[in-house]
Amino acid sequence: MQGKNYIGGEWVSSPWGETFEDINPANTQEVVGVFPKSNQKDVEEAVKVAREAYSTWRRLSRIKRGEYLDNFVQLVKAEAEELAYLMAKECGKAINECRADVVEGIHMTQFMFGRSRTPYGDVVASEIGEKDAYMLRRPKGVIAAISPWNFPFAIPTWLIMPSLLEGNTVIFKPSEETPLMAHKIAEYFHRVGLPAGVFNLIQGHGPQAGWPLVTHPDVDVVLFVGSAPVGAEIKKVCAADYRKMAACEMGGKNAIIVCDDANLELAVNAAILSAFKTSGQRCVSASRLIVHEKVIDAFSKAFVETAKRIVIGDPVDEKVFMGPVINQKAVDKITFYNNLAREEGAEILLKGGRLDGEGYRQGYFMSPFIYRMKYDSRPRVLREEVFGPHVAIVPFRTLEEAIHIHNDVEYGLAMSVITEDYRKARTLREECEYGVGYVNLPSIGAEVHLPFGGLKKSGTGLPSASTLIDAVTHRVAWTVNNATEIKMAQGLSAAV
Ligand code: NAD
Repeated sequence: MQGKNYIGGEWVSSPWGETFEDINPANTQEVVGVFPKSNQKDVEEAVKVAREAYSTWRRLSRIKRGEYLDNFVQLVKAEAEELAYLMAKECGKAINECRADVVEGIHMTQFMFGRSRTPYGDVVASEIGEKDAYMLRRPKGVIAAISPWNFPFAIPTWLIMPSLLEGNTVIFKPSEETPLMAHKIAEYFHRVGLPAGVFNLIQGHGPQAGWPLVTHPDVDVVLFVGSAPVGAEIKKVCAADYRKMAACEMGGKNAIIVCDDANLELAVNAAILSAFKTSGQRCVSASRLIVHEKVIDAFSKAFVETAKRIVIGDPVDEKVFMGPVINQKAVDKITFYNNLAREEGAEILLKGGRLDGEGYRQGYFMSPFIYRMKYDSRPRVLREEVFGPHVAIVPFRTLEEAIHIHNDVEYGLAMSVITEDYRKARTLREECEYGVGYVNLPSIGAEVHLPFGGLKKSGTGLPSASTLIDAVTHRVAWTVNNATEIKMAQGLSAAV
């Protein structure tokens, strides 16, 4: 497919003519599409039309804005299976995960449509009996939404749908690894007749197409989901701009804590799903399994045996659990950390790595790498995000020690505790640093009506998904005097 940018309600090629290829990571010979490599000039045009569209879009009834989202959902539902198939081709996730990604996008859009008729402010009391006081929400303006490749449909909807519902206009810069899913999103907006300029798509790479958006003086909010180093740069530059806000959700070094009383079968299942779904390339993937020393041998044996049975292959094959990783850079990074684990003293339990046998040679396939390592604050493999099928099993003795190990990383995104003891679960709930917590579940599995966002290096504290409303609106106070004289709060004299 020959993709385009979508600016001001028109499909446009970048006038500069530069393009990039969208490659199937399971078969690098297959070009899924060719898309414009946009630059600052394309961004300028998109921001201009988004600003123009803002003045009318924000005045449209919130209910009418919501109806565009409902129409969008109807189109997605009709094409959900095709979307999931294209997604698997483009990003390599197993087909059932791609279906779930589409469903999550549907849920997010439905949820925002539903919110169009719910209250979006509060009526509160005033100190003065004759006054009425309100807290209202106003849109922020022009929003840049920059997304990663690993949830190429769901994550854009987290960012775009709340923004549009609340009356903002949007410029969407998707990952250069998943331009096709972004193109489909723009197609749906086009087909539902969204007014020109309300939603705009700029394809291309981070530094050339993303950074000009981040630094553009007429962009009011940057919504970013991606890696911590890029998020840190975005936060820095937005902080220096007096009127711009950034909400950034980033990576994790997530853990599952398996207590001595855990149901081990459930623990192994939860750990396999957390470590290897999406080939370990979720922000919430668990790369640390912190396991009580009493059960660590039995747990490790069962975990490794189960991991050996994982079916790796073409993601469109229903039997496949793990598809390829996204690109050669990911292969190199994961290989680097697998080697580093050895250098840092890991006991290797399953020697995973690049697969290059029959059926794997054309793609970026990697198998699970599992090791055991005593906790120490120094090894980089216990601290840094790997974003691949790479997982450490770390023993602990006391709950205090498990909490210390859990928190001794710069990230704080997702955690899970496996226990039958509600007191232990509660202690961990209160003492661990995380944004998304689970009990007797994997560390993955977001639902759109719950907050989703981390602490520390993982996020800005403005969680994504439904609660993103707070980032794309400004809460204003509106106070009305119904008397014919002025009475002031705090007993302040109104006499002149
Ligand atoms: P990435 O940071 O490389 O890219 C994310 C987006 O930022 C892409 O659209 C990219 O083009 C853009 N970008 C890159 N450099 C930029 C720059 N200088 N200026 C502006 N934009 C720029 O991340 P990725 O590889 O696509 O995704 C993986 C990362 O995302 C992991 O760290 C993962 O944990 C994280 N992630 C976080 C969440 C969350 O909700 N917390 C969800 C999914 C993924």
